[in-house]
Amino acid sequence: MGERVEKASQVRVESMPSQAVRVVPAVGRVLQHPKVKALEQTFPHSAVLEAVRELLDQWRGRIMDGRIQPKGLTQEAVTADVVKRLLSVLEQKNRPNLRRVINATGVVLHTNLGRAVLPEQAAMAIMEVARGYTNLEYDLQEGTRGSRQSHVAALLAKLVGAEAALVVNNNAAAVLLTISAIAAGRDVIVSRGQQVEIGGSFRIPDIIRQSGAFMVEVGTTNKTRITDYANAITEQTGALLQIHTSNFRVVGFTQSVPLKDLVELGRRHSVPVISDLGSGSLIDLRGLGVTDEPTVQECIAAGADVVTFSGDKLLGGPQAGIIVGRKRWVDMIAKHPLARAVRSDKLTLAALEAVLRLYRENKLEEIPTLSALYTSVEELQARAEQLQQELSSAVGNLVELKVVEDPSQAGGGSLPGFELPGRAVAVKPVKGTAHGLQRRLREVHPAVIGRQQQDRLLLNVRTLLPGDIEAVVDAFVQALSADAGSVGHCLPDHQDRPL
Ligand SMILES: *Cc1c(COP(=O)(O)O)cnc(C)c1O
Repeated sequence: MGERVEKASQVRVESMPSQAVRVVPAVGRVLQHPKVKALEQTFPHSAVLEAVRELLDQWRGRIMDGRIQPKGLTQEAVTADVVKRLLSVLEQKNRPNLRRVINATGVVLHTNLGRAVLPEQAAMAIMEVARGYTNLEYDLQEGTRGSRQSHVAALLAKLVGAEAALVVNNNAAAVLLTISAIAAGRDVIVSRGQQVEIGGSFRIPDIIRQSGAFMVEVGTTNKTRITDYANAITEQTGALLQIHTSNFRVVGFTQSVPLKDLVELGRRHSVPVISDLGSGSLIDLRGLGVTDEPTVQECIAAGADVVTFSGDKLLGGPQAGIIVGRKRWVDMIAKHPLARAVRSDKLTLAALEAVLRLYRENKLEEIPTLSALYTSVEELQARAEQLQQELSSAVGNLVELKVVEDPSQAGGGSLPGFELPGRAVAVKPVKGTAHGLQRRLREVHPAVIGRQQQDRLLLNVRTLLPGDIEAVVDAFVQALSADAGSVGHCLPDHQDRPL
């Protein structure tokens, strides 16, 4: 008897919400709503149906687990809410997964945000070759098969003063390919001070092993001398490898071997010298206060046989691995079977050619990476004040705003320890937290990515592109508007958040 009572009461507790979900209308009913019918002019029926189902399921879920009290709710009210949120849900689903965001971190080459921003000319070049057939591997003069490298190799070689050039998928591939082609089965001598991890699983010792070469370490973490290299050279030596420590610094009691000394040693023993520069700047950054970033031209002039660097770091181009150096070695690298596995596609080559042309024509201000690095503090101050003012007129009642000093970095494993002076707008929401604001700014399109610092959100203006100030203001308006929130926050206002 007692058992039955218990069962009965259980049933009653369960049936309460399931009764209550009857205030959630049927899909068909919502689809009849004139506003929903209107949306079907823009979005496919299947998409509208899916979004309506999702919103209704969310309503049911919230009622079932008790987050919403169904008392006083009507089908009309729920329908109205679903209709109100439908457009934004449809828009969110319609967005590409890989999409534009606004970089307000101040980190110019932000690896997570796609590193270098391409110049307009490079973006146009991509469009042009993407939309039609191209002479990618066709020699228009001879009417015969050509080389995809021909479009960039001569330009590159000329710019850096090298005999030859080759472009592959990225710099990690360039290093792997170079060592595989030049030193497989032989020793590669490298300083213990340059045993670096670039990121993820890209570690120099692993790359050397993967290439089929044997790593011979010389020197110590902080000091390596030319005699250390000299003593390690044997019949078995296939290359001397120098890695630019582009993402960290060893300071204090240190010594490393200048490239030209390494080259001299290599020459004496007929051993090629490979220099992995990493960032690969084509311009002297001393004007910015950077003193330890050799240019590609300097490395070639110092006599390096092969120099490798990235296309999308300080060069400011597309993702690519660029190999420049002596013809003898570059030809050997190009013929290695791995070269085919890591080759560049036509879109990359088109963008890279456009960027290289800007260097050749000395139109450096049109390269966004360089212009971001070279923006003066006065200009940053003015930009920050403008952002502050425009935010203030749009959402000034909802946030506290202040222009603050905020140094930033080059990022992307470039110029370690080097800080550029900068400015940010510090934003403190009147209601809610900086964390919550940041989340909402990620949900709008384009998302705004800033940095949280205690109870405020910092918007560093160095990495804002033309037009971004308006887009940031727009994002704030959306993020702070009363019915902001994505799928998953779809609650009637009176129950969702404090009034
Ligand atoms: C960044 C870097 C790499 C890897 O280049 P990706 O283009 O990212 O593949 C290799 N070596 C050094 C020294 C680097 O700084």
